[in-house]
Amino acid sequence: MLNLVLFGPPGAGKGTQSQKLVDKYQLVHLSTGDIFRDNIKGGTELGTLARSYMDKGELVPDEVTIKMLEAEVAKNENAVGFIFDGFPRTIPQAEALDRLMTKLNTSITLMIELIVPEEELTKRLILRGKDSGRPDDSNPDVNGNRIAVYHKQTAVAANHYNSQGKYHKVEGVGDIETIFHSLCKVMDGYAMV
Ligand code: AMP
Repeated sequence: MLNLVLFGPPGAGKGTQSQKLVDKYQLVHLSTGDIFRDNIKGGTELGTLARSYMDKGELVPDEVTIKMLEAEVAKNENAVGFIFDGFPRTIPQAEALDRLMTKLNTSITLMIELIVPEEELTKRLILRGKDSGRPDDSNPDVNGNRIAVYHKQTAVAANHYNSQGKYHKVEGVGDIETIFHSLCKVMDGYAMV
C-alpha cells in the first residue's frame, strides 16, 4: 500500500491536489473536513457536534475525529492506499493513525506538506468562501482562527513524521499543474508496494 498524509494549512490546496493524486495513483481520498460536512448535510448527531467546533474554526475533539476516521478506513478494505487530507491535525491523531495502520499490516509511507505563505492563504480562503458555500471560509475571524489553530496545534504533527524520516515539503504556490508535478516527483520516489 501507499499511504500519503497530505499536510498544510487551510487553503494550501490539499483538496485540489488530492483529486489529481487520486486519479493518478488510484488511492482512496479521506478528507475529515469533507466527512464532517457530509454529516452536517445529513443532519447526523456527529454533524451537529462537529459544526459547533467548525463554525468557530476550532478542532473537533480527537476522540470523535479518530473514531470517525477509523470507521471510514474500515469501509475501504480493498484500497491500494489512502490519501489522508486534513488528518492528522494533532499528535494524538498521528499516533492513532500509526496504530491503525499497524493493525492493517501497513504504515504511513510519507507526509508531504504544501508550503504556502499566510497572506496567500487568507486571499485563497476569502475567494473560496465566495463560491464554496462553506461558512468557515466566508468569515475572516474564523479563517484567522483556523490558521492560528494550525500553527498552535497542528504544525507539530509534521515533527512526528520528520522523526520517522517520512517528511517532505513541496512549494504550494504557482499553477496547479506545476504543484502537481512536484508532488508526483516525491510520490514516484516511493515504490508502490
Ligand atoms: P478542512 O476542510 O480540512 O479545512 O476542515 C474544516 C474543519 O473541520 C476544521 O476547521 C475543523 O473544525 C474540522 N476538522 C477537519 N479535520 C479535522 C481533524 N483531523 N481534527 C479536528 N478537526 C477537524
